[in-house]
Amino acid sequence: MTARPGRGTVVPGRGENLRADHEALLQVVIAAERSGSSVPCRDGSLTVTAAWTATDTKTQAAAARECSRCPVLAECHTYARLHSQELGVLGGTTEADRRREAS
Ligand code: SF4
Repeated sequence: MTARPGRGTVVPGRGENLRADHEALLQVVIAAERSGSSVPCRDGSLTVTAAWTATDTKTQAAAARECSRCPVLAECHTYARLHSQELGVLGGTTEADRRREAS
């Protein structure tokens, strides 16, 4: 899946430090939420948010499509590229998408 260009700035990590990059992404997410934006994978509903960590590919694909309306898609997509080994849906990509792109 190809993500559309998003808004905002790119996460300032270099891909070498998972914890720092994750924290940087989290700060961008929190800032977006504080400004009133809705981040689809964090809507507060376990039923909805579980799709982002689902193990079946169909559910992951549906969650990845929902990322297209996320205000931090660009930053999350960068994070996903830097840390392609992460599980679940990130930045509009599924685990399978990232494995394919990394090979
Ligand atoms: S792009 Fe997708 S995975 Fe990343 S924060 Fe937004 S909704 Fe969540």
